[in-house]
Amino acid sequence: MNFDPKMAKVEHIKQRADGLSVYGRLAEFAASGLEKINADDLTLLRWIGIYQQKPNEGHFMWRIKLPGGRLAPSQLRGLGHMAQRYGRGFSDITTRQDIQFHWFTLQDFPEAFARLQNELGLHSIFACGDTPRNITSCPLDGLLAGQSVQLGDLVRQVSDLFKAGGSEFSNLPRKFKTSLAACPIHCHQPQINDVGTFAVRHRDGRAGLGVVVGGGLSSSPMFAQGLRIFVPAEKIAQQIPDIFRHAALIFRDSDELRFKRKQARMKFLVAQKGWQWFGAELQKRLGYELEQDETIVNPVGGLYTDHTGIVPLNNGLFSVGVPVERGRWSGEQMIALADLTERFAQSDLGEIRLSQRQNALLLNIPQAHIEALCAELKGLGLPADAPLWRQSLVSCTGTQFCNLAVVETKQRAKEILEYLESQVELDSPIMVSVSGCPNSCAQLQISDIGLTGTKAIYNDLKVDAYDVLVGGALGENPKFGRQILAKVPAQRVREVIAAVARAYLEHRIVFGEGDVEAFRDFAARYTIEQLAQWAAIEGWTPPPPRQVRLDEAAAIN
Ligand code: SF4
Repeated sequence: MNFDPKMAKVEHIKQRADGLSVYGRLAEFAASGLEKINADDLTLLRWIGIYQQKPNEGHFMWRIKLPGGRLAPSQLRGLGHMAQRYGRGFSDITTRQDIQFHWFTLQDFPEAFARLQNELGLHSIFACGDTPRNITSCPLDGLLAGQSVQLGDLVRQVSDLFKAGGSEFSNLPRKFKTSLAACPIHCHQPQINDVGTFAVRHRDGRAGLGVVVGGGLSSSPMFAQGLRIFVPAEKIAQQIPDIFRHAALIFRDSDELRFKRKQARMKFLVAQKGWQWFGAELQKRLGYELEQDETIVNPVGGLYTDHTGIVPLNNGLFSVGVPVERGRWSGEQMIALADLTERFAQSDLGEIRLSQRQNALLLNIPQAHIEALCAELKGLGLPADAPLWRQSLVSCTGTQFCNLAVVETKQRAKEILEYLESQVELDSPIMVSVSGCPNSCAQLQISDIGLTGTKAIYNDLKVDAYDVLVGGALGENPKFGRQILAKVPAQRVREVIAAVARAYLEHRIVFGEGDVEAFRDFAARYTIEQLAQWAAIEGWTPPPPRQVRLDEAAAIN
């Protein structure tokens, strides 16, 4: 990297010290206390997953990296005990399949890090900061009937490749998000990642993967663009790690991104220079030819689900999905789920996988055990047959712990969920995302109904409010949600969602028994004005219509 003093502030910090340099200094920080840690070190702690909770001075969020969201029962049990010991009894599942704790103090970290690594075999290296973040995947990767290629342990291998690379990857211009799976319905959302793969069948019948680059949400959402390459099944093990590694290095070496922090993501590079440039650069660095195919652009087909539910696996066993209400579970529930997985899974095949809709799937359950397992889950407050709303609603952290939040989210999401479950019965999922600001950690622009936190005047008071977007979708014809209402007071937004859901149930196309139009297709058929009219609620008048761009909203907030 060619450092230039005009680069963004954090580049100066990274110039002074490698992000990973804080790793061996946890005992020193614990002894010195928060007041004695300098600002550079506090920033660099993010490289090992530690983020200061500014609304709660003296406490920290700690994100644990879980490639593909995969956990052995013993690991989930250990994390549950850590939530109880240091994290005030709970943790959150993130939309990138990590687990994050809150309320840690500096004094907790030396012991907690040792337990994480030595007892659980997990780590938090590169969980935050300008680094390769957790690699997301389909929670049922390798186990789904109809999966045309098998990836084995590739997600872990690529994750380990980044970790082993250390300083090779510890100074990227910003975060680098990747998704690796061959899910037949591309539930792993490759199109909102810096690099993503998707299952594809070549015109000649061969199975393999396609690759997209340069996607991301936040305040300037962009869909990743297809590299128009085909990675045949027999070359996946060699080419995919190479592609992920060199894509990260192209990003790392793009010093022009390091001047404006808000535009330092790979999506801006791809948007500016083109996927053709990126593909040519990748090809040059790989030193061997990738198979080109102009027809392989986006993942095709499939309707979004995170596979929560009772799903038959290709080994004759089942996955039992557990909807975790807005992704927050108690340490006690984590431990109990680990125990249940061990008790009910086939011999030693028990495994838990977290989904990007913040749910947990218990794998390899014999059919004969499903009923008893479901009864136990109900007793735990985690019913497998919870209403569809609970499977599909996600929520980010919000003002409770997040330094960037505009509004509260987790408690509001709970209230929204309880209201929707009591008011509208669904037979087809509607994904709701509750984001506390335009950064979109809850992926609001690709959800059926997405909420962005903002402020509004309601009954002469300044209150939390949400802009409401409708109709986001990934796949062959991806769309970002369209804003139908602005500044809906937070305490009324649940009524708006219920009204939109009722309109969907009334006006969707029914193709046949049990075969109905998906929400996204319904939303695409109607104008913003029509959808806004259906969303109207008594006693609240929407502010005058004005197109608020998401990047503009970010600047205001
Ligand atoms: Fe924080 Fe905003 Fe991300 Fe929510 S979307 S976790 S409020 S940065």
